[in-house]
Amino acid sequence: MIVKVADLKQYLYCPRIIYFTYVAPVEKKVTAKMAIGKEEHYATVRLEERRRLRAYGLSEGERHFNAYFYSERLRLEGVLDMYIVTPRGNFPVDFKNACRVALNHKYQLVAYALLLEDHFGRPVRGGFIYLIPRKQVHYLEITPEARLYTKKLIGAVRNLVAREHFPEVPRRSGRCADCEYRNYCGDVL
Ligand code: SF4
Repeated sequence: MIVKVADLKQYLYCPRIIYFTYVAPVEKKVTAKMAIGKEEHYATVRLEERRRLRAYGLSEGERHFNAYFYSERLRLEGVLDMYIVTPRGNFPVDFKNACRVALNHKYQLVAYALLLEDHFGRPVRGGFIYLIPRKQVHYLEITPEARLYTKKLIGAVRNLVAREHFPEVPRRSGRCADCEYRNYCGDVL
């Protein structure tokens, strides 16, 4: 199974989403919030194309947008919002419709870093998360621990699908209130 970078985010939000995506697929409702989020995302890409690199603390570099990457070694794929090629190295950039950097954003970024590394054969030491509502750029170091955990997550997604395991409700069940799969989870309050 080829895992998508977005699957890691979903897995961390709730593993059941992986079950509903791959094991017993259901139709999910696209909420108004999601549609607006997508539009804001595109608008950010359009703006970013005209912006300077200063926000990223870089003096020079070449930006590339919406790039598809696949790693045969990891059997992982994803479309990266942006990456910057500089003499100092390559940096993945992920745009998020969020006001703070969450854990699942971090591991998505690490997964993109792994894809960039495999594609260019150059180590990636850091990357950026751009928070759209705040217009803020956050630098994250790609640590050995984060790499290891990301690889474990890729394995966990694959394992869940192979075993066709229906996971428990996440401990933070507050997430269910906003979830587009809520109709399929009869056991949540
Ligand atoms: S409603 Fe809750 S348990 Fe069901 S998929 Fe969504 S977050 Fe997971």
